Amino acid sequence: MTHIASLAKMRQYFASGATRSYEFRKEQLKKLKQSILSHEQDLYAALYADLKKSPEEVWATETGMVIAELSEALKNLRNWMKPESVTTNLLNLPSSSKIMKEALGVVLIIGPWNYPFQLLFNPLVGAIAAGNCVVLKPSEFAPATDAVMRKIIEENFAPEYVLYVPGDGASVIPEMMNNFSFDHVFYTGSTTVGRIIYKMAAERLMPVTLELGGKSPCVVEEDADINVAARRIAMTKFSNAGQMCVAPDYVLVHASVKDKLVEALKASIVKFFSDKPEESYSFGKIINEKQFNRITGYLTQGTIAHGGRTDKEKLFIEPTILTDISLDSPIMKEEIFGPLLPVIPFTSKEEALAIIQRNPNPLSFYIYTSSRKKEKEWLDAVPAGGSCVNNSSWHLTNHHLPFGGRGFSGTGCYHGKYTFETFSHKKAVMKTPTWFDPSIKYPPFKGKLKLFKWVIK
Ligand code: NAD
Repeated sequence: MTHIASLAKMRQYFASGATRSYEFRKEQLKKLKQSILSHEQDLYAALYADLKKSPEEVWATETGMVIAELSEALKNLRNWMKPESVTTNLLNLPSSSKIMKEALGVVLIIGPWNYPFQLLFNPLVGAIAAGNCVVLKPSEFAPATDAVMRKIIEENFAPEYVLYVPGDGASVIPEMMNNFSFDHVFYTGSTTVGRIIYKMAAERLMPVTLELGGKSPCVVEEDADINVAARRIAMTKFSNAGQMCVAPDYVLVHASVKDKLVEALKASIVKFFSDKPEESYSFGKIINEKQFNRITGYLTQGTIAHGGRTDKEKLFIEPTILTDISLDSPIMKEEIFGPLLPVIPFTSKEEALAIIQRNPNPLSFYIYTSSRKKEKEWLDAVPAGGSCVNNSSWHLTNHHLPFGGRGFSGTGCYHGKYTFETFSHKKAVMKTPTWFDPSIKYPPFKGKLKLFKWVIK
């Protein structure tokens, strides 16, 4: 089925101006919040079916995050929409200058399957707040969540305002992007598909935000609090069975504390998920057999220091620690995106940095140390989308921080007011009074150089 006719209707609806008033935007945000809350139980059931997430995990990483974004947008919408006054330079006085936040038009949001609700609806909040019409393309690999999301959208919004387009990304996305000029494309997913999206966007000069993946390193220095480090690394590495874009992909630990860290990691895993994680309330499952086969393929690429058990029927892979890994093996070249944690010792910062630089510009970089000096040195040394000190992944839950990658891990950022900005155009406006119009500004310019040098510098 082609969506081009629906997209043309969206363009018309946007042009009518209906989506742009403060009242309209506020009403839609309120409606969305109410609807999510009334489908809370359906979302718990769906995310359990797709990824075996507990309601607690769903609230902390999916629904609660979107509700928090909605509350933030509702609280600040008027402020965000206000034109921003800026100084006018001497040359243009007595003009005044301001930046208007202009809605973009019809935007496309493409989501992945690992946080299927949050990663589609968080950008939606900002796109609505900014006054746009929105096309939502969910991942086809989280079907239960897909069905609830579709219900929420179709119950609340007319298709010319928010259009829900499910299905196989490789066919529906090119069909839309090659035949319609979106005013922005916001994509979350793998770097491989990100490249395809970027190419299609370039053809029609469509601006993009790319929220991609990659290998996020985690460095543990010899002066780190090892027990705390182990708890915090294990917590986010094995959350959602490791299928998290900002999970620590691998750990680089100072050789002098490697054994201690491995022991502490093992203790944390057992404490969090018991010695039967397949039965744990808090441990998720792998999304599908394709991903299961890909991840289990890495199990032979190191020594299993903990875990290693799998069950294809249940799509279960035990939280696993791997040591003695060759840097040239696939597990150190590809994003793991599963519950396997390579632990690699280093003896000098240069050695650790050289390993990180094999996969430059990670989405996140984590440093565990008790030294302020080392903290600063490490933060300065590793260009990354975001970072935590003595923590992993939680920076993404603070909507006052911009979230996004750089280079191979993405371009652009969002969350909180940054999402609003992503979906708005900053229009520069200068207003000049007519009562003052000195002839000096007009040709002929001969003899005015000295004056220009004084005014323009
Ligand atoms: P994916 O790239 O396979 O799919 C993402 C979306 O792209 C889906 O909606 C899919 O339908 C669509 N798609 C797939 N093939 C396509 C094609 N050929 N042409 C056009 N569209 C296509 O990603 P995924 O497997 O769903 O998600 C996992 C990846 O996403 C990981 O790399 C992870 O790190 C990354 N990720 C990044 C973030 C972030 O915020 N930076 C968050 C979550 C996941």
